[in-house]
Amino acid sequence: MTFFDSRHPQFSHYVLGNAPVRQLATGFDWVEGPVWFGDAHALLFSDIPNNRIMRYIPGVGVSVYREPANFSNGNTRDLIGRLLTCEHGTRRVTRTEIDGSITIIADQYQGKRLNSPNDVIVKSDGSIWFTDPHYGIMTDYEGFRAEQELPCHVYRVDPESGAIDAVVTNLNCPNGLAFSPDETRLYIADTGRMFSDDTTAIHVFDMKGKELPGASQVFHSISPGASDGFRLDTDGNLWSSAADGVHCISPDGDLLGKILVPEVVSNVCFGGRRKHQLFITATTSIYGISLNRSGA
Ligand code: MG
Repeated sequence: MTFFDSRHPQFSHYVLGNAPVRQLATGFDWVEGPVWFGDAHALLFSDIPNNRIMRYIPGVGVSVYREPANFSNGNTRDLIGRLLTCEHGTRRVTRTEIDGSITIIADQYQGKRLNSPNDVIVKSDGSIWFTDPHYGIMTDYEGFRAEQELPCHVYRVDPESGAIDAVVTNLNCPNGLAFSPDETRLYIADTGRMFSDDTTAIHVFDMKGKELPGASQVFHSISPGASDGFRLDTDGNLWSSAADGVHCISPDGDLLGKILVPEVVSNVCFGGRRKHQLFITATTSIYGISLNRSGA
Protein backbone atom coordinates (compact mmCIF):
# COMPACT_ATOMS: atom_id res chain seq x y z
CA MET A 1 0.00 0.00 0.00
CA THR A 2 1.46 3.30 -1.01
CA PHE A 3 0.25 6.45 0.69
CA PHE A 4 2.16 9.04 -1.35
CA ASP A 5 2.45 10.26 -4.92
CA SER A 6 5.56 12.45 -5.09
CA ARG A 7 5.77 15.02 -7.87
CA HIS A 8 8.87 16.93 -6.73
CA PRO A 9 12.05 15.94 -4.82
CA GLN A 10 11.17 18.48 -2.11
CA PHE A 11 8.06 16.52 -1.15
CA SER A 12 10.20 13.96 0.68
CA HIS A 13 11.18 16.67 3.20
CA TYR A 14 7.58 17.20 4.22
CA VAL A 15 6.30 13.64 4.63
CA LEU A 16 7.55 10.66 6.59
CA GLY A 17 8.07 7.80 4.17
CA ASN A 18 6.88 5.11 6.57
CA ALA A 19 3.99 6.99 8.21
CA PRO A 20 0.61 5.46 7.33
CA VAL A 21 -2.62 7.17 6.41
CA ARG A 22 -4.85 5.80 9.12
CA GLN A 23 -8.64 5.73 9.13
CA LEU A 24 -9.59 7.07 12.57
CA ALA A 25 -13.38 6.85 12.43
CA THR A 26 -16.04 6.16 9.83
CA GLY A 27 -19.80 5.89 9.32
CA PHE A 28 -20.58 9.54 8.57
CA ASP A 29 -22.17 11.06 5.44
CA TRP A 30 -20.18 14.19 4.56
CA VAL A 31 -17.60 15.34 7.08
CA GLU A 32 -16.10 18.84 7.05
CA GLY A 33 -14.79 21.57 9.33
CA PRO A 34 -12.04 19.80 11.28
CA VAL A 35 -10.57 21.79 14.20
CA TRP A 36 -8.05 20.63 16.78
CA PHE A 37 -8.43 21.38 20.50
CA GLY A 38 -5.00 20.65 21.94
CA ASP A 39 -6.16 21.50 25.47
CA ALA A 40 -8.81 18.78 25.24
CA HIS A 41 -6.66 16.52 23.02
CA ALA A 42 -9.65 16.27 20.72
CA LEU A 43 -10.65 16.89 17.13
CA LEU A 44 -14.06 18.39 16.41
CA PHE A 45 -15.60 18.04 12.94
CA SER A 46 -18.99 18.49 11.31
CA ASP A 47 -21.04 15.63 9.85
CA ILE A 48 -23.16 18.04 7.83
CA PRO A 49 -26.09 15.95 6.45
CA ASN A 50 -26.54 14.30 9.87
CA ASN A 51 -26.74 17.72 11.50
CA ARG A 52 -24.14 17.11 14.19
CA ILE A 53 -20.66 18.04 15.32
CA MET A 54 -18.55 15.04 16.32
CA ARG A 55 -15.60 14.79 18.69
CA TYR A 56 -12.70 12.40 18.12
CA ILE A 57 -10.27 11.75 20.97
CA PRO A 58 -7.16 9.79 19.93
CA GLY A 59 -7.01 6.49 21.73
CA VAL A 60 -10.59 6.85 22.95
CA GLY A 61 -12.84 7.16 19.92
CA VAL A 62 -15.62 9.25 18.54
CA SER A 63 -18.70 10.72 20.23
CA VAL A 64 -21.33 13.38 19.54
CA TYR A 65 -20.27 16.90 20.59
CA ARG A 66 -23.39 18.79 19.45
CA GLU A 67 -26.67 17.56 17.98
CA PRO A 68 -28.60 19.13 16.40
CA ALA A 69 -25.88 21.47 15.17
CA ASN A 70 -27.79 23.68 12.72
CA PHE A 71 -26.10 21.84 9.83
CA SER A 72 -22.73 23.24 10.82
CA ASN A 73 -19.85 23.23 8.34
CA GLY A 74 -16.49 24.98 8.90
CA ASN A 75 -15.00 25.39 12.37
CA THR A 76 -12.00 27.19 13.81
CA ARG A 77 -10.89 28.75 17.11
CA ASP A 78 -10.45 32.42 17.89
CA LEU A 79 -7.38 33.98 19.51
CA ILE A 80 -8.38 32.86 22.99
CA GLY A 81 -9.47 29.41 21.88
CA ARG A 82 -13.24 29.71 21.58
CA LEU A 83 -14.97 27.64 18.91
CA LEU A 84 -16.22 29.53 15.84
CA THR A 85 -18.72 27.67 13.66
CA CYS A 86 -20.35 28.23 10.27
CA GLU A 87 -23.97 27.09 10.34
CA HIS A 88 -25.94 26.37 7.16
CA GLY A 89 -29.28 25.76 8.89
CA THR A 90 -29.40 29.11 10.67
CA ARG A 91 -27.31 30.86 7.97
CA ARG A 92 -24.91 32.35 10.49
CA VAL A 93 -21.48 32.26 12.12
CA THR A 94 -21.46 31.65 15.85
CA ARG A 95 -19.02 31.60 18.73
CA THR A 96 -19.32 29.05 21.54
CA GLU A 97 -18.37 30.82 24.76
CA ILE A 98 -16.35 29.23 27.56
CA ASP A 99 -19.59 28.58 29.47
CA GLY A 100 -21.19 26.92 26.44
CA SER A 101 -23.56 29.73 25.48
CA ILE A 102 -23.79 30.73 21.82
CA THR A 103 -23.05 34.22 20.50
CA ILE A 104 -24.07 35.19 16.96
CA ILE A 105 -21.11 36.73 15.12
CA ALA A 106 -22.83 37.31 11.76
CA ASP A 107 -26.17 36.39 10.23
CA GLN A 108 -26.91 39.23 7.83
CA TYR A 109 -25.33 41.84 5.62
CA GLN A 110 -27.02 45.11 4.68
CA GLY A 111 -30.32 43.81 6.02
CA LYS A 112 -30.28 40.57 4.00
CA ARG A 113 -29.75 37.05 5.28
CA LEU A 114 -26.41 35.39 4.63
CA ASN A 115 -26.50 32.34 2.32
CA SER A 116 -24.81 29.51 4.23
CA PRO A 117 -21.43 30.36 5.81
CA ASN A 118 -19.00 27.63 4.84
CA ASP A 119 -15.52 28.16 6.27
CA VAL A 120 -13.99 30.57 8.78
CA ILE A 121 -10.56 31.75 9.89
CA VAL A 122 -9.18 34.30 12.36
CA LYS A 123 -6.37 36.78 11.61
CA SER A 124 -3.78 37.72 14.23
CA ASP A 125 -5.58 41.05 14.80
CA GLY A 126 -8.67 39.12 15.93
CA SER A 127 -10.72 39.80 12.81
CA ILE A 128 -12.94 36.91 11.67
CA TRP A 129 -13.04 36.05 7.96
CA PHE A 130 -15.62 33.73 6.48
CA THR A 131 -16.96 32.61 3.10
CA ASP A 132 -20.65 32.58 2.24
CA PRO A 133 -21.38 30.39 -0.80
CA HIS A 134 -24.92 29.18 -1.49
CA TYR A 135 -24.46 25.41 -1.15
CA GLY A 136 -26.37 25.11 2.14
CA ILE A 137 -29.55 26.71 0.73
CA MET A 138 -29.65 25.07 -2.70
CA THR A 139 -30.95 21.72 -1.40
CA ASP A 140 -32.33 20.27 1.82
CA TYR A 141 -29.36 17.90 2.16
CA GLU A 142 -26.92 20.17 4.01
CA GLY A 143 -29.39 22.70 5.38
CA PHE A 144 -32.72 24.10 4.27
CA ARG A 145 -33.51 25.04 0.68
CA ALA A 146 -34.27 28.74 0.50
CA GLU A 147 -34.12 31.82 -1.67
CA GLN A 148 -30.67 33.33 -2.10
CA GLU A 149 -30.67 36.95 -0.90
CA LEU A 150 -26.99 37.87 -1.33
CA PRO A 151 -24.19 37.12 -3.81
CA CYS A 152 -21.51 34.70 -2.60
CA HIS A 153 -19.03 36.99 -0.85
CA VAL A 154 -16.17 36.70 1.61
CA TYR A 155 -16.76 38.76 4.75
CA ARG A 156 -14.57 40.26 7.44
CA VAL A 157 -15.87 40.89 10.95
CA ASP A 158 -14.07 43.74 12.66
CA PRO A 159 -12.56 42.71 16.02
CA GLU A 160 -13.38 46.04 17.70
CA SER A 161 -16.79 47.05 16.35
CA GLY A 162 -18.15 43.68 15.17
CA ALA A 163 -19.06 45.38 11.87
CA ILE A 164 -19.31 43.07 8.85
CA ASP A 165 -17.82 44.02 5.50
CA ALA A 166 -17.84 42.19 2.16
CA VAL A 167 -14.13 42.14 1.34
CA VAL A 168 -14.00 39.75 -1.64
CA THR A 169 -16.82 40.00 -4.16
CA ASN A 170 -15.26 38.73 -7.40
CA LEU A 171 -15.47 34.93 -6.91
CA ASN A 172 -18.36 32.66 -7.96
CA CYS A 173 -18.57 30.59 -4.80
CA PRO A 174 -15.81 31.13 -2.23
CA ASN A 175 -15.24 28.12 0.01
CA GLY A 176 -12.06 27.28 1.99
CA LEU A 177 -9.72 30.11 2.98
CA ALA A 178 -6.45 30.65 4.85
CA PHE A 179 -3.72 33.24 5.35
CA SER A 180 -0.06 32.55 4.65
CA PRO A 181 2.01 32.20 7.86
CA ASP A 182 3.16 35.86 7.63
CA GLU A 183 -0.35 36.99 6.61
CA THR A 184 0.95 38.71 3.45
CA ARG A 185 -1.29 36.44 1.37
CA LEU A 186 -4.90 35.32 1.60
CA TYR A 187 -5.82 32.11 -0.22
CA ILE A 188 -9.45 31.45 -1.14
CA ALA A 189 -10.85 28.43 -2.98
CA ASP A 190 -13.59 29.10 -5.52
CA THR A 191 -15.62 25.90 -5.99
CA GLY A 192 -18.10 27.39 -8.45
CA ARG A 193 -21.87 27.76 -8.28
CA MET A 194 -23.95 24.65 -7.81
CA PHE A 195 -25.51 23.24 -11.00
CA SER A 196 -23.18 25.34 -13.18
CA ASP A 197 -19.94 24.68 -15.03
CA ASP A 198 -17.90 27.42 -13.35
CA THR A 199 -14.18 26.72 -13.29
CA THR A 200 -12.69 26.01 -9.88
CA ALA A 201 -9.39 27.31 -8.53
CA ILE A 202 -7.54 28.53 -5.49
CA HIS A 203 -7.00 32.28 -5.76
CA VAL A 204 -4.32 34.25 -3.94
CA PHE A 205 -4.87 37.83 -2.73
CA ASP A 206 -2.08 40.25 -1.94
CA MET A 207 -2.30 41.41 1.70
CA LYS A 208 1.17 42.95 1.93
CA GLY A 209 0.84 46.15 3.95
CA LYS A 210 -2.92 46.01 3.51
CA GLU A 211 -5.81 45.48 5.87
CA LEU A 212 -8.13 44.40 3.05
CA PRO A 213 -7.36 42.02 0.18
CA GLY A 214 -5.58 43.63 -2.79
CA ALA A 215 -4.95 42.28 -6.26
CA SER A 216 -5.68 38.61 -6.85
CA GLN A 217 -4.67 35.93 -9.28
CA VAL A 218 -5.27 32.25 -9.83
CA PHE A 219 -2.83 30.36 -7.59
CA HIS A 220 -3.48 26.71 -8.41
CA SER A 221 -6.25 24.52 -9.81
CA ILE A 222 -6.64 21.22 -8.00
CA SER A 223 -7.21 18.14 -10.16
CA PRO A 224 -8.88 15.72 -9.87
CA GLY A 225 -11.75 17.35 -8.05
CA ALA A 226 -11.48 20.81 -6.55
CA SER A 227 -10.09 22.44 -3.45
CA ASP A 228 -12.81 22.67 -0.80
CA GLY A 229 -10.59 23.42 2.21
CA PHE A 230 -6.89 23.68 3.10
CA ARG A 231 -4.38 24.63 5.76
CA LEU A 232 -0.78 25.86 5.55
CA ASP A 233 2.35 24.50 7.18
CA THR A 234 5.13 26.58 8.74
CA ASP A 235 6.98 26.71 5.39
CA GLY A 236 3.97 28.20 3.64
CA ASN A 237 3.01 25.05 1.73
CA LEU A 238 -0.70 24.64 1.22
CA TRP A 239 -2.23 21.24 2.05
CA SER A 240 -5.46 21.10 0.07
CA SER A 241 -8.36 18.72 -0.27
CA ALA A 242 -8.76 16.93 -3.62
CA ALA A 243 -10.81 14.08 -5.05
CA ASP A 244 -7.90 11.65 -4.68
CA GLY A 245 -6.47 12.81 -1.35
CA VAL A 246 -4.53 15.80 -0.04
CA HIS A 247 -2.30 17.78 -2.38
CA CYS A 248 0.76 19.68 -1.13
CA ILE A 249 1.18 22.94 -3.09
CA SER A 250 4.33 25.06 -2.75
CA PRO A 251 4.12 28.85 -2.17
CA ASP A 252 4.93 29.15 -5.91
CA GLY A 253 1.78 27.22 -6.76
CA ASP A 254 3.48 23.96 -7.77
CA LEU A 255 2.16 20.52 -6.89
CA LEU A 256 4.89 18.89 -4.74
CA GLY A 257 3.06 15.65 -4.06
CA LYS A 258 -0.08 13.96 -2.83
CA ILE A 259 -1.21 12.02 0.20
CA LEU A 260 -3.50 9.39 -1.27
CA VAL A 261 -6.81 8.90 0.53
CA PRO A 262 -9.43 6.35 -0.58
CA GLU A 263 -12.35 8.82 -0.25
CA VAL A 264 -13.00 12.33 -1.61
CA VAL A 265 -11.40 14.79 0.82
CA SER A 266 -13.24 17.92 1.96
CA ASN A 267 -10.80 19.57 4.38
CA VAL A 268 -7.79 19.16 6.65
CA CYS A 269 -6.34 20.60 9.85
CA PHE A 270 -3.11 20.24 11.78
CA GLY A 271 -3.17 18.93 15.31
CA GLY A 272 -1.59 16.53 17.73
CA ARG A 273 1.11 17.10 20.31
CA ARG A 274 3.34 19.27 18.11
CA LYS A 275 0.83 20.17 15.38
CA HIS A 276 2.62 17.72 13.09
CA GLN A 277 -0.39 15.51 12.48
CA LEU A 278 -2.73 16.19 9.62
CA PHE A 279 -6.36 15.32 10.26
CA ILE A 280 -8.35 14.74 7.09
CA THR A 281 -12.13 14.87 6.70
CA ALA A 282 -13.09 12.67 3.73
CA THR A 283 -16.71 11.92 2.86
CA THR A 284 -17.70 9.17 5.33
CA SER A 285 -14.50 9.02 7.40
CA ILE A 286 -11.76 10.92 9.12
CA TYR A 287 -8.12 10.01 8.53
CA GLY A 288 -4.85 11.01 10.16
CA ILE A 289 -1.21 11.04 9.15
CA SER A 290 2.00 12.29 10.79
CA LEU A 291 3.97 14.78 8.72
CA ASN A 292 7.50 16.14 8.94
CA ARG A 293 6.17 19.72 9.16
CA SER A 294 3.89 21.47 11.61
CA GLY A 295 0.81 23.53 10.95
CA ALA A 296 1.28 27.31 10.70
MG1 MG B 1 -15.92 24.01 2.65
